[in-house]
Amino acid sequence: MTITVPESKHPRIVVVGAGFAGVHFIKQFKNKPYQIVLLDKNNFHQFPPLFYQVATSGLEPDSIVFAIRKMFQRYDNLSFRMGEVIHINSAEKTIETTIGNLGYDYLVIATGSTNNFYGLADVERHSIGLKDIQESLDIRSHLLQNMEAAVTAPIESDEIDNLLSVVIVGGGPAGIEMAGALAEFKRYVFKKDYPDLPREKLQIYLVEASGKLLGAMSEKSQNESLKYLNDLGINVMLNTKVTSYDGSIIGLAEKPPIKAKTLLWTAGVKGQFPSGIDSEYIVSGHRIKVNDTNKVEGHNHIYAIGDVALMSTEAYPQGHPMVAPTAIQQGTHLAKNIQSNNWNPFVYKDKGALATIGMKKAVADINKLHFKGYLAWFIWSTVHLMSISGFKNKLMVGINWMGSYFSYDKSNRLIIRPYKK
Ligand SMILES: Cc1cc2nc3c(=O)[nH]c(=O)nc-3n(C[C@H](O)[C@H](O)[C@H](O)COP(=O)(O)OP(=O)(O)OC[C@H]3O[C@@H](n4cnc5c(N)ncnc54)[C@H](O)[C@@H]3O)c2cc1C
Repeated sequence: MTITVPESKHPRIVVVGAGFAGVHFIKQFKNKPYQIVLLDKNNFHQFPPLFYQVATSGLEPDSIVFAIRKMFQRYDNLSFRMGEVIHINSAEKTIETTIGNLGYDYLVIATGSTNNFYGLADVERHSIGLKDIQESLDIRSHLLQNMEAAVTAPIESDEIDNLLSVVIVGGGPAGIEMAGALAEFKRYVFKKDYPDLPREKLQIYLVEASGKLLGAMSEKSQNESLKYLNDLGINVMLNTKVTSYDGSIIGLAEKPPIKAKTLLWTAGVKGQFPSGIDSEYIVSGHRIKVNDTNKVEGHNHIYAIGDVALMSTEAYPQGHPMVAPTAIQQGTHLAKNIQSNNWNPFVYKDKGALATIGMKKAVADINKLHFKGYLAWFIWSTVHLMSISGFKNKLMVGINWMGSYFSYDKSNRLIIRPYKK
């Protein structure tokens, strides 16, 4: 079966993935003489930096996901099809998807990344990741369901401790932001919502295999984030490696296990993409090797941008950081190269790094300058608010944050879609 798209006399560019890279690539083609066909397995674009707020009941999902069809309503040359791309036949210049096959003149792979469990199959089976909005909602429901179960568990039983212990694995921005938000939930919401449960039973652990948090940031940011987390009462365990998890007991290398019904995995990512790329061009971290113009090595007319692409340069021999600015810049750059047929190499502009710990504290490294505390939190909030697509969503998130800023309340603690493994 072939996917039907309108007839066009223009070259057809098939874009797989409506994340930051895919969307910013397409924005350069608005009503230009190219036929754009966008495929995504979801009908929405997501804003991952705020997943942790959905997971901890701080924001409703609608504020940070956007309908793809609405985003591109004014693009006369774009067709969106919801489907998952399974395979690429580079010799025939076609793709196979869950909704049929399609030919291309140019193929742009912008499929992003997924959780990397480093081969720990039982951890993958029993933990929850934080890689998409569905997982964010799973975490929210799972945490609230466990709190409800704890209320009815026999008092003084181990069960209450297990239900209320949350272990977050990974000391990068996603892990520490999650830990900070949960600590505030514990401090300001838990005691009001669950007066029957002793507050100290809700224990939050942050487990990191290396000896420091925020490995990609400055030493100052690493030390300050550790201090902020300690102040919030989080059990930070550095130099601690998770080896197994059966849904109740977390095995640790050379340390006693932790009992917990919740394991949240933010410890690693790897590229995700359809089959059909020659294995010799799939490199460490399961990313696709591209040249300095994002062309996939060894394949003609196929490009990869964003998290999924590994472009090794002198400044970034292991590839660029897997962050939104890389995806946005690569998407925009590739679009300009295709239109001009002038193949300038990609040069990454580092915009710095930010991480927040709770509602009023953050760390920021920008152009060799370091910020902390309230000022860094203000920078973090402004940058994130401005980056969210659409005025209505900016307004919704802004109003929500203002409310939480003064009341610390988390208004979305609803189990609408109960979590089941
Ligand atoms: C929890 C979390 C917090 C983060 N915080 C920050 C932050 O604060 N700042 C920052 O800069 N970066 C942050 N990042 C990283 C940032 O989100 C990524 O670098 C960025 O999203 C990469 O963009 P992308 O377009 O390459 O991929 P993505 O945004 O992941 O988009 C990939 C798209 O491809 C679609 N897709 C995947 N496979 C297929 C398929 N086979 N067929 C069809 N569609 C497919 C997906 O549905 C998705 O829409 C965070 C990431 C996470 C997970």
